[in-house]
Amino acid sequence: MASHIVGYPRMGPKRELKFALESFWDGKSSAEDLKKVAADLRASIWKQMADAGIKYIPSNTFAFYDQVLDATALLGAVPPRYGWTGGEIGFDTYFSMARGNASVPAMEMTKWFDTNYHYIVPELGPDVHFSYSSHKAVDEYKEAKALGVDTVPVLIGPVSYLLLSKPAKGVEKSFSLLSLLPKILAIYKEVIADLKAAGASWIQFDEPTLVLDLESHKLEAFTKAYSELESSLAGLNVLIETYFADIPADTYKTLTSLKSVTAYGFDLVRGTQTLNLIKAGFPSGKYLFAGVVDGRNIWANDLAASLCLLQDLEGIVGKDKLVVSTSCSLLHTAVDLANETKLDDEIRSWLAFAAQKVVEVNALAKALSGAKQEEFFSANAAAHASRKSSPRVVNEAVQKAVVALKGSDHRRATNVSARLDAQQKKLNLPILPTTTIGSFPQTADLRRVRREFKAKKISEEEYVNFIREEIRKVVELQEELDIDVLVHGEPERNDMVEYFGEQMSGIAFTANGWVQSYGSRCVKPPIIYGDVSRPKAMTVFWSAMAQSMTKRPMKGMLTGPVTILNWSFVRVDQPRSETTFQIALAIKDEVEDLEKAGISVIQIDEAALREGLPLRKSEQAHYLDWAVHAFRITNVGVKDTTQIHTHMCYSNFNDIIHSIIDMDADVITIENSRSDEKLLSVFREGVKYGAGIGPGVYDIHSPRIPPTEEIADRINKMLAVLEKNVLWVNPDCGLKTRKYTEVKPALTNMVAAAKQIRIEL
Ligand code: GLN
Ligand code: ZN
Repeated sequence: MASHIVGYPRMGPKRELKFALESFWDGKSSAEDLKKVAADLRASIWKQMADAGIKYIPSNTFAFYDQVLDATALLGAVPPRYGWTGGEIGFDTYFSMARGNASVPAMEMTKWFDTNYHYIVPELGPDVHFSYSSHKAVDEYKEAKALGVDTVPVLIGPVSYLLLSKPAKGVEKSFSLLSLLPKILAIYKEVIADLKAAGASWIQFDEPTLVLDLESHKLEAFTKAYSELESSLAGLNVLIETYFADIPADTYKTLTSLKSVTAYGFDLVRGTQTLNLIKAGFPSGKYLFAGVVDGRNIWANDLAASLCLLQDLEGIVGKDKLVVSTSCSLLHTAVDLANETKLDDEIRSWLAFAAQKVVEVNALAKALSGAKQEEFFSANAAAHASRKSSPRVVNEAVQKAVVALKGSDHRRATNVSARLDAQQKKLNLPILPTTTIGSFPQTADLRRVRREFKAKKISEEEYVNFIREEIRKVVELQEELDIDVLVHGEPERNDMVEYFGEQMSGIAFTANGWVQSYGSRCVKPPIIYGDVSRPKAMTVFWSAMAQSMTKRPMKGMLTGPVTILNWSFVRVDQPRSETTFQIALAIKDEVEDLEKAGISVIQIDEAALREGLPLRKSEQAHYLDWAVHAFRITNVGVKDTTQIHTHMCYSNFNDIIHSIIDMDADVITIENSRSDEKLLSVFREGVKYGAGIGPGVYDIHSPRIPPTEEIADRINKMLAVLEKNVLWVNPDCGLKTRKYTEVKPALTNMVAAAKQIRIEL
């Protein structure tokens, strides 16, 4: 019985690759140093999988920046602005595409399906000249072989590559990316020939776009591509790997009739439909790579349940054709539990990071072949049982409170226009009120003080004094700038989810549970392991302190339940909606405590609401329904005169505008850096909406200082579409990554622009 791993994290157990990359980018180490770190990481990963007994070990899943960018390099599809003139693509060109350089900006980066990983979007047009320009796939295959490990080379499949691309600037929108298929297949043939010559007997094509709802011409492209490759692939075992959702039924049919393909990898963790399709028929003689170990989470597998499922599948596809695998690449989970010194033994026993998942996959394969490691299985069963009944997981009061929520949709009694009137009487704001999104620059001093307090190197008193002075500085600055609705600047927060997670029960934090987000950047998601509650107020102390420093309204600043959920590793023993409702109740208590403390404007950030949107259309309405409901729960209890803001960091609203309106916030601030009038008309279409709207008037991701005229121009464009009494003036997002030398002049110009237009109105 065989085992397989779809892909593995590249960063290393202690983020070795991150530090090597950043040191190289800073000019502090050489290309050779970087290559050495990378080669050592690859070698240790291959060795670890080989030692664990994995049969099909992947290669070419390592990337210096991103696997899609690697495919772009392989195809020589370098946009002309990088001045590449041909030959093997080196670090210069590769990292320029990834990060930009002094004279050209980077290529666009976007989210990889519904994960928090970001890939570099290929830019293609009819004139791109493709050429085989990176031999990384074959080099890595040979490198592993030299170490005694025969691997399965992994390539992004040709159809997914095109479907994940965008037309280059200047190329007609109507240009069909799929029309490039014959051209890129020519390059794929060269790579395949190279891999064969090097001795590869398997090849894996990652085609995750197969889980999307594909129009028929896109689906046909798969048939075309893999029949075109048929003669090149002859003699190889060909695995098509899919992940992140169920396979639509028509796709399954097309896919399983591809002649050149000998094996299929399916994600059996997400959804249950694929399993039904397999049960209804699987092509005889082909391999099924059954993704039963979750690559998107950190929980120990339920080995007994997986074994049952695998035994069922064995009955369908045959003993020698079933391969135990992960649901997707392990890139999306943390690296190695062995480095977790902070977690206690009980919580540790419930978890499995990438290194542990490799062992689980192999244990399942062995068990299927009759060599079940009884001790390993019974320890796993005991851990599962302990998690079910642990008092740290179960909080009956919280569960009851969530059950009691059912039956109401939790809407504030008064409609938004009437609420805004009541709020205006209290707040007395000018037209086009100005505000910011929450954070002010996070200086090195600030980070140091937070760190020292955490490490107990300074006393609580010293810490509070320092933060108080920081808040005072931010408040005084905003008064000087004449901003209307102030913020305290969030100096006490390291991260908008971690700050709340650390103060709620049922949530744990790791020391090294890093997951790659993009390039060298990693995030450390909290682990929601039990029923969530809020033992005491989390932000009232600071918000009340900040309010006492000014007569102007001070916004209370919270992270919403859906964002906390979407940026965490979430328990899988209850629906995600249930967990979100628990968090919503905790935030509700906080909102009400803030109101009691005299805070009359409260912003509840839902930066990640869109991120949780399921990939399959059929599941989206259900998600939006409970997500929006959870948001409403947080503020259903406040008075009409309390103004609820929400903020979102994206402008892609076209398809979810009705849900945004359904959140029923009083004011919504959104990213709008590209001054997208389409976005505004989307909001206007919902004029019945009536709530305040603050589309960002300048981009905070860049150090550039926007001139007053430019901001005024943007505001005027917005006024052409939106009613003047609903428009707010604010930046795109929080200012924490900027410097005061940028923030002061930018906000000065922003306020000046608002004032100038108020006079004109
Ligand atoms: N209030 C947060 C801040 O300003 C919002 C951050 C975000 O939207 N990502 O930092
Ligand atoms: Zn934002």
